[in-house]
Amino acid sequence: MLSDLNWKRSNVRGEAQCCRCSRTLLAGQASIQIDRSRVCIKCWDEVRADPTKSVQEYKQEFRIGSGSPTRRSGSSGRSGASRRPTPNLQPTLSAYDAALLVGNALDRAVSGSYAQLFPAGDLPFFEPGFDNLVIGRAGVTIVGSKAYSSAVQIEAPVSWSSTTIPANVLSHGRNLRDLVELAVEQRAALEAVIEAAKFKFEVPVAAALCFESVEGVDRTPVRESMSVRIDTAENIAAFTTRRGPVFEKEIEPVVEHLLRFAQAPQI
Ligand SMILES: [Zn+2]
Repeated sequence: MLSDLNWKRSNVRGEAQCCRCSRTLLAGQASIQIDRSRVCIKCWDEVRADPTKSVQEYKQEFRIGSGSPTRRSGSSGRSGASRRPTPNLQPTLSAYDAALLVGNALDRAVSGSYAQLFPAGDLPFFEPGFDNLVIGRAGVTIVGSKAYSSAVQIEAPVSWSSTTIPANVLSHGRNLRDLVELAVEQRAALEAVIEAAKFKFEVPVAAALCFESVEGVDRTPVRESMSVRIDTAENIAAFTTRRGPVFEKEIEPVVEHLLRFAQAPQI
């Protein structure tokens, strides 16, 4: 039975590895701890789908040391169960884990501030990979984690701040322009929702995309394309909670409007 298994939800402290699929778990990422081993949320969901297994069967599926819950380096001889080698050439976060990781970074940024995190899943224009809105002093920002686990390079062919000619967002030789366009669409849909509220104060609307690492080609400082902010999760979290024209007491009415709209779209 699942209830017999010694498990708990726990965020990763230092970098760790899922003992089932070997994917890297980054500090702060949500994971499941079983005895002293960790598994990623995706593996956890896959294995626990059948809750009738015995503890032994669970541990076998999670590849947790046969019988002995703790892995001791001092024991004589190595166990025959060898772990799969880690492919370190490319980041391996699934879309699901990327959304969690970005969500955690945003969560940390808003806690202790007046800013609020709003799940985008109930909004009619919801697009998987754009799971979170942050509502704060700077206004409303929709944050994308799609293709998060890529290192990207940004190259602005014409002008650093052009809003009509997009910069190239390059990842392993691919231009992620489609993703930027998707973010622009998300921002436009969000703008329409905010405009419909006819607030008597200004509420800027922004879109952002998170990537594991972001560099400008030729050391250019460009960090956006089509006015979509492009940066690491931590930097985007800081970006969404920066100061702006929205007063603290004006944040709650914006959140309430979004909640009402999510329940009954009126545009
Ligand atoms: Zn896993």
